[in-house]
Amino acid sequence: MSPTRIYVARHDADAEIVKDLLLHAGIEAHVVPVDSTRLRFATLAVWVARDGDVDRARAILAEHDQAPLSNAYWSWRCAECGEDIEEQFDRCWNCGASRRDGGTQED
Ligand SMILES: [Zn+2]
Repeated sequence: MSPTRIYVARHDADAEIVKDLLLHAGIEAHVVPVDSTRLRFATLAVWVARDGDVDRARAILAEHDQAPLSNAYWSWRCAECGEDIEEQFDRCWNCGASRRDGGTQED
C-alpha cells in the first residue's frame, strides 16, 4: 500500500478542487508540491493515500474533467520515464525531459 499520484495541477486552485472532490467521496487525498527544480514552473500534485481508492479517484477525476471547471487530462507520455503528462505541459514534470524528446509529436 503506497500513496499514488493521480493528478498534476497547473494552478494551485485546481489541486485544491480535486482534493476536495476526493475528500468528499471519502478518499484520503493530499496536495503535494511537485519537485520542479528542472522546470520553469512550480506546480502541485494530488496524491491518493490508499491503493484501494485509486480506481475510484480516477473515475471521479474523469467526471471532473468533463466539467468546464477543468480541462486537465493526460495527453502525452514521457519517453524518458513513462509519466503521463497533461496537454499544457511542454516538459515532463517528473524528469524534465522535453515533449519533443519522444512524446507525441507536434507540428
Ligand atoms: Zn519524464
